[in-house]
Amino acid sequence: MHKADVLDRIDRALPVRPMTLAMERALDRAMGARQRCPKCRRRYHHDIPLRRLGSCLECYDGTPANPSTYLAPPFGRHGLAA
Ligand SMILES: [Zn+2]
Repeated sequence: MHKADVLDRIDRALPVRPMTLAMERALDRAMGARQRCPKCRRRYHHDIPLRRLGSCLECYDGTPANPSTYLAPPFGRHGLAA
C-alpha cells in the first residue's frame, strides 16, 4: 500500500470533532441574531427578514405569527437563548 493512501485513509477515518459548548453558544448567538425580533423579542425557529423589515412580520405589518413558530420572552433562565 502506498504511504499517501494510508494517510488519506486515516484522515477520512477521523471522527468529526464534537462541538464544544463554546462553539454551540457561538452558533446559537449567530442563529439567534437572525431569528430574534428586536421589537417583540420573540425568538423564531426560523430566520426572519430582519435585513429587509427590521423585525418579524407581525411587528412589520401585523401578520400574526403562528405561536408554534417562536418562543415568547422571557426565555428560560438556563436556556442558551436567554
Ligand atoms: Zn416581532
